[in-house]
Amino acid sequence: MSRLAVRARWALVEGEIVTDRWVVAEGDRIAAIVRDEPAADIVIDRPDLFVLPGFIDLHNHAFTESLVRGRSEDLSKEGFETNLIYGLLMPIGKLAMDHLSPDECEAIAEMGLMQLMKSGVTTLLEPFRAGLIAPYIKAATRAGLRFYAGPYLFSTPDLDIGADGKPTYKGGGGDADAAAIDQWRALYQRHHGTEGDRIRVTLAPHATDTCGPELLRKVRGLADEHKCLATIHVAQSHDEVAKSQKLYGRTPTEFLEWVGLLGPDVLLAHCLFSTDSDLDITRRHDTTVVSCPSTFARGGSTAAFGRFHEHGLRTVVGTDGYMPDMVSELRTAGLVSKLAAQDPGVATAAQLVEAVTTQSAKALQRDDLGTLKVGAKADLVAVGLGGAHVIPVVDPRNALVWRGQTSDVWASAVDGKLVVNEGRYLAGDEAAIVARAGAALGKIEELARSSGILARAK
Ligand SMILES: [Zn+2]
Repeated sequence: MSRLAVRARWALVEGEIVTDRWVVAEGDRIAAIVRDEPAADIVIDRPDLFVLPGFIDLHNHAFTESLVRGRSEDLSKEGFETNLIYGLLMPIGKLAMDHLSPDECEAIAEMGLMQLMKSGVTTLLEPFRAGLIAPYIKAATRAGLRFYAGPYLFSTPDLDIGADGKPTYKGGGGDADAAAIDQWRALYQRHHGTEGDRIRVTLAPHATDTCGPELLRKVRGLADEHKCLATIHVAQSHDEVAKSQKLYGRTPTEFLEWVGLLGPDVLLAHCLFSTDSDLDITRRHDTTVVSCPSTFARGGSTAAFGRFHEHGLRTVVGTDGYMPDMVSELRTAGLVSKLAAQDPGVATAAQLVEAVTTQSAKALQRDDLGTLKVGAKADLVAVGLGGAHVIPVVDPRNALVWRGQTSDVWASAVDGKLVVNEGRYLAGDEAAIVARAGAALGKIEELARSSGILARAK
């Protein structure tokens, strides 16, 4: 079995900072954390490394967010709230699905995965349109990433934006729900547990306004049947909240409780417009909140990690595709939370690091991830903390979150195998990956212009 040894000036071992250790992986497991340099096949030796569990990112959209780069910022308030999701992300995502080859889709996905991995992410959960699963899994497999694939389930897949600027919902229920379930079952059978169990499949009903009650009740049944996770977008726009109130007389969270979906195996993305009472319900069901601050900060909205964390919820931080960079996202999560609470004591560096390690592992119901301890999976990241922008290091978590940069990420490993080393992505040539993705994105830009989608989003 191959042995990897990483010299740690600091290491986060079972939640505590220790100094001057070697972290040793043997095969896919952590074999030892020792003071003396061990024998190993591969040695990572730098005097300033902070070694910690690899970051677990539980919400991202590498594909769709790449398609709207440069078009999602500086929008008007109305433009952001309605057009971004329903007028840009969803129709351009569908356009791309209809016109790009599997290879082109894979190129865009891989560029996003590569960026996340270079920022220390070793486990990623990503919801996407079901047709993208093969390109995503090919890219994630080549990258060596631990990947939770979430092919969307929709009751109303052809959601678009009407002349009044509001979302329109077509079809849904009955046969559409049954087809969505059948498709999910087939994808689960085919992909779940493959690649040495690095690939898993989750349930990903899209959102509370695109999935009806019957579909969500079936999702609960599937989660119980397969003991698998479910994730859904919740309270991410005013339109979604209004639709829920109009149709069901309930907030999106109350709706999810009513259909019976909530539970410890469920991850709610965003909860931006959730009320305090909604958060009480979420906590009562031991359900995880995934807070993605950057994506909403560009829209002038406050998705404060600290609000959910202070409410006693298991809260994790996701990148949402907009900022495929976990180091940057953690800092944004901290700053947005402190601004929102007008309190520098909330969202500490230690809490934020915990959010993407131990708390995320709990959300995944995995006791072998998110921690450095003998016997745990050897998923780890080593960050250089010797730069001019970082020193002096009082606490390495503080240095990483408040002053670190993605370029400080020196190495990372999944299942004991290096996937990033010397700051470089190891599964492919970065320039070639960027060129392939750039060509595919250029094609979509042309199609989006000629289709008139872009003219509607202001
Ligand atoms: Zn999302």
